[in-house]
Amino acid sequence: MQTVDVLVVGAGLAGLHTARLLARRDLNVMVVDRRRSLATGVRTTGIFVRRTLDDFDLPDHLLGPGVRDVLLYPPSRRAPIRLTSDRDEYRVADMAAVYEHARRLAESAGARILLGVRYVGASGGLVRFAGAEPVTARFVVGADGARSRVARDLGLDVNRRFLVGAEIVHPIASGTTSPAFHCVLDPRVAPGYLGWVIDDGRHAHVGVAGYPDAMRPGLRHLLETFAADAPGRAAPAGPVERRGGPIPVGGVLRRLACPAGLLVGDAAGAVSPLTAGGLDPCLRMSELAATVITGYLRTGDQRVLSRYDGGALRSRFRGRLLLRRAFAGIRSPAAAEAAVSALRGRAGRALAAKILFGDGSFPDVHPRSANPAIGHPGR
Ligand SMILES: Cc1cc2nc3c(=O)[nH]c(=O)nc-3n(C[C@H](O)[C@H](O)[C@H](O)COP(=O)(O)OP(=O)(O)OC[C@H]3O[C@@H](n4cnc5c(N)ncnc54)[C@H](O)[C@@H]3O)c2cc1C
Repeated sequence: MQTVDVLVVGAGLAGLHTARLLARRDLNVMVVDRRRSLATGVRTTGIFVRRTLDDFDLPDHLLGPGVRDVLLYPPSRRAPIRLTSDRDEYRVADMAAVYEHARRLAESAGARILLGVRYVGASGGLVRFAGAEPVTARFVVGADGARSRVARDLGLDVNRRFLVGAEIVHPIASGTTSPAFHCVLDPRVAPGYLGWVIDDGRHAHVGVAGYPDAMRPGLRHLLETFAADAPGRAAPAGPVERRGGPIPVGGVLRRLACPAGLLVGDAAGAVSPLTAGGLDPCLRMSELAATVITGYLRTGDQRVLSRYDGGALRSRFRGRLLLRRAFAGIRSPAAAEAAVSALRGRAGRALAAKILFGDGSFPDVHPRSANPAIGHPGR
């Protein structure tokens, strides 16, 4: 039977990035994903925010043009608020290509990646799969998304509060749009969140997300309703792809690590509760995770694991969790019209700009440590 230092379950952005960082530190790393191809089953729009683009090295050719304008619409769709930044705030990535790129980086660092392999369970270091022989793993990383099975098997915390989101993606004729992020606050189609339209110059993304209990007509129906006259949407110039999935918005989970494994990405609840952005935390928290895992496997010292502390990160989410609650409370079109009206004034625009253009959607995590066995992730 094969033995690996680290088994990473899930080849999303969090799993692939963590695997790369671990393999670079000379650990024997295996990644499994139930998807047969990383180009299928994509669950994200792929909007990367400025802070991520500044801090992490994503190749330019995988990203659409910079977006500086956000248009915020009330349910009536009349007189949207336009917020314009003097910098590029968002870029929409070709996610299939981003995953492929992350996979190549992980493989060239030495990680082995097996697709079409489903994690089934683990006990006493033995990990079982559908689609491959079992392996013995010294440590398991749960990068298996919002409804993590690894989290349950390790006895760690699990996500309990979710939005659900869905979008359609289709090619558009080039030159038919100017880069802008259209956000519609309309609880009839997106209760507790937004409807959105954004494009990368070649593909349009049109989506809705909200609380499942308030989406009685069904997510698909609400998406169709929204897409039928979504503002800023260019006509499809090719086949329509569908994406979607749960988005954990309860904040980073408290108990994220134990001697048998830890959680990263959506499995860790590492999503901004307010904006529902999870791509930045996939990269940011994986750096800390890799540092902690390496330190732990090299020293065997369980105290190292306590540095991967969701409780400490959670406390920095208080303001965002409060705003999420306020956002969730907007359940009628009249309340949404009033909320957008409140944002029209100077203070309201400043708050909206802070949320949309600020650097605070996910707190910084600092992997530095007094323990010389841990070191900095860049090394
Ligand atoms: C509709 C939608 C739009 C979004 N848009 C944005 C956005 O524009 N910007 C942003 O920042 N965030 C966005 N998010 C959130 C963001 O996409 C996620 O936070 C992020 O992709 C999570 O990455 P991950 O690697 O943790 O998990 P995932 O990308 O979900 O990867 C988990 C992987 O684990 C695999 N897996 C699961 N179970 C098993 C198993 N038993 N065995 C083997 N493999 C398994 C899955 O196949 C999957 O590949 C969006 C979310 C949704 C639903």
